[in-house]
Amino acid sequence: MKGILTGLSDIIFPPGCLTCDIILDHHEQLPVCPTCYSKIKFITSPLCTCCGIPFSGADTSDHLCGDCTISKPAYSVARAVGHYDATLLEAIHNFKYRGKTASGKTLGRLMAGNDYPAVDFQEYTLTIPVPLHVRRLRERGFNQSVILAREIARKFHTPLDFLTLRRYIYTESQINLGKRERESNVRGAFKIMNPEKIKDQRIILVDDVYTTGSTVKECARLLLKEGASSVAVLTIARAV
Ligand SMILES: [Zn+2]
Ligand SMILES: [Zn+2]
Repeated sequence: MKGILTGLSDIIFPPGCLTCDIILDHHEQLPVCPTCYSKIKFITSPLCTCCGIPFSGADTSDHLCGDCTISKPAYSVARAVGHYDATLLEAIHNFKYRGKTASGKTLGRLMAGNDYPAVDFQEYTLTIPVPLHVRRLRERGFNQSVILAREIARKFHTPLDFLTLRRYIYTESQINLGKRERESNVRGAFKIMNPEKIKDQRIILVDDVYTTGSTVKECARLLLKEGASSVAVLTIARAV
C-alpha cells in the first residue's frame, strides 16, 4: 500500500533534483540528477584514520593527520560522504535554510547508503543527532541532524535518541568563526539528561557538516565522560 501511495505521489509530485530542481527520471534511485551527481566529490582513501580528512598529493595510504596526532579527538572515528562544496553544499543549504525538509530524508538515505570501511555498524547500539538549542529549533522549525539520523538509525538498526543529549547554551552562527573560537564557543554548551541512557552504549553521532569538528568533539567528549563506551561521527559533508 505504501508503495502504491509513493508511486502515486511521484506521478503527482515527481521528485526533483535536490540542487537544480530538474525532474528526475522515474527509475532514478539517486537524490540528484546525473549532472549534479557527477559534481559530488566523494571522500575516499587516502584519508586520516581518525577525523577522515582526505589527503592529496604524495600520501597514498591512510594514517593519522597532523591535527589528530597533536590532539586526538574524543571520538574514535569521523567520516563524511563528500566534500562540502558544489552539489552537497547546495543540497544542504536547500535543506537547512530554504526549508526543503523533504530533501533531508533523501540526504539521510544518501548518507546511510554510503560506504564507510572504517565503521563496523554492527558494533554500534545507539544513534544520537547533534542537538539544536530550543531557540534555534524554533527559528528553523526542525533539527536537520534528527532527520538525517533517523535514516541512519533505520538502516543500521541502531535506535534513535534525540532527547538525552541537549544543547543548553545558545551559540550564534559559527560560520565566521575560526577553529579556536569555535572550540570555546561550544565548550560546555551541551548536557546529558539521563546518563543511564548512554551508559556503555556505542554511539553513532550524526551531524550535517563537519567543519573544524569542534561541535562533534565537544559532544563526544561529554558522551564519553557520562558513560558511553565509544563514539563514531557521521556527517554528509566535510570541509577539507
Ligand atoms: Zn541536478
Ligand atoms: Zn585527522
